[in-house]
Amino acid sequence: MLLNDKSLLIEQCYINGQWTSAQSGETVAIYNPATAELVGHVPVMGAQETQHAIDAANKALPQWRALTAKERSEKLRRWFELLLENTDDLAMLMTCEQGKPLAEAKGEVAYAASFIEWFAEEGKRIYGETIPGHQADKRLTVIKQPVGVTAAITPWNFPAAMITRKAAPALAAGCTMIVKPAPQTPFTALALAELAQRAGIPAGVFSVITGDAVAIGNTLCESPIVRKLSFTGSTPIGIKLMAQCAPTLKKMSLELGGNAPFIVFNDADIDAAVEGAMIAKYRNAGQTCVCANRIYVQSGVYEAFTEKFAKAVSRLKVGNGLDEGVTTGPLINSAAVDKVTKHLQDALTKGASVVVGGKTSELGELFFEPTILRDVNKTMLVAKEETFGPLAPLFKFDDVEDVIQQANDTEFGLAAYFYGRDISLIYQVSEALEYGMVGVNTGLISTEVAPFGGIKSSGLGREGSKFGIEEYLEMKYICMAI
Ligand code: ADP
Repeated sequence: MLLNDKSLLIEQCYINGQWTSAQSGETVAIYNPATAELVGHVPVMGAQETQHAIDAANKALPQWRALTAKERSEKLRRWFELLLENTDDLAMLMTCEQGKPLAEAKGEVAYAASFIEWFAEEGKRIYGETIPGHQADKRLTVIKQPVGVTAAITPWNFPAAMITRKAAPALAAGCTMIVKPAPQTPFTALALAELAQRAGIPAGVFSVITGDAVAIGNTLCESPIVRKLSFTGSTPIGIKLMAQCAPTLKKMSLELGGNAPFIVFNDADIDAAVEGAMIAKYRNAGQTCVCANRIYVQSGVYEAFTEKFAKAVSRLKVGNGLDEGVTTGPLINSAAVDKVTKHLQDALTKGASVVVGGKTSELGELFFEPTILRDVNKTMLVAKEETFGPLAPLFKFDDVEDVIQQANDTEFGLAAYFYGRDISLIYQVSEALEYGMVGVNTGLISTEVAPFGGIKSSGLGREGSKFGIEEYLEMKYICMAI
């Protein structure tokens, strides 16, 4: 791996401002999903090291919380700049451990950095309120204070951004944080810790621990010192963590699975809809929680959309994300490939047919050809489960009420998309979709300035925007008699 700054590939954890190995000395190897080459080793830490990180975060809290928002903001700003200055290296680490094309990885570094910049500013705007007294001698005020020690457990599909959109609001608000990154993508997380250290973020304020997910997770959840857990990952694990946090009544933010509908109405701009579907479906090889999972096309444009979409998908280039022109990297592991294959086979046996792709690529077993299926219906697995891969199922519909009913017929409620031009239809559909986020005539909705999050089994809370920092604040009401 060619890094400009070799010291960004770190094979130790960052706890209490120190680079440390596991007490047992145990490590685990991380392999590149595109080439199966070794990227490096990281420590396998457990309960003891996690407790040490919690104690360090608790010790660092009073001083960090006592800084002015502006003082914290200056350090975060430096962290933001360091991410941008090291974009090439961070992207290289990310592509090597996660597989996404280098251009996408660079895009993620900018996106990850944007949360730090945003919350460095928002931290200065944590306003309270005054309330007119209920009695003549009473003066009522509301202040907001950091929740304290916090923890984050993050996934592999966005190895940098899923960390910064939790850590930046936490640190800006005056909280300290321990991050457990996904086992597949520890190196991006550890490089972020190195940059946090270089930015002058004090020891214990931000720690990164790798290793045994269950032991680390249990210790974080059970600790009465940790006052908040923010998790991004699958719904079953989110539910488990919430139950584990119940005895200590932690605040929780959960960003879980999705099953995004993408609807194309007869009056849509078809070229724009194809462009939106390409981004919403195939970004990160279909491995994002806001990826279009079910594409509903109204019968008047079904053939036209299918044809143009197929042309665009045939132009995608599968390969090693480091290679020039590659748009679609490998899937993260063989379980991911198995799920795509299972959804494909199930749909084929129930009457769907392949328009483009339809098999693993000859490049290797983790590469799956970008695929379109037509004549898909609601009896198929793809209608119900999140595929999390480069498989686009096309459903045909006639009636608006019916498509809204189908779109909402899922336990999930993260993102939804639709394309159409009739203004009253746009309002009706936007309001009727039971989702936390709706993209109208666009397939790309994520930005640090807007609230990202879901309803139903897609989670709790919002990340990004002015609302994102609220998740790391407690409200205190002060009633003063004069
Ligand atoms: P995925 O299947 O996409 O990897 P997961 O929900 O399993 O999604 O993983 C998301 C994050 O949750 C990862 O950091 C993973 O290590 C962590 N995780 C998985 N199981 C547990 C657990 N039992 N306790 C704590 N963290 C867990």
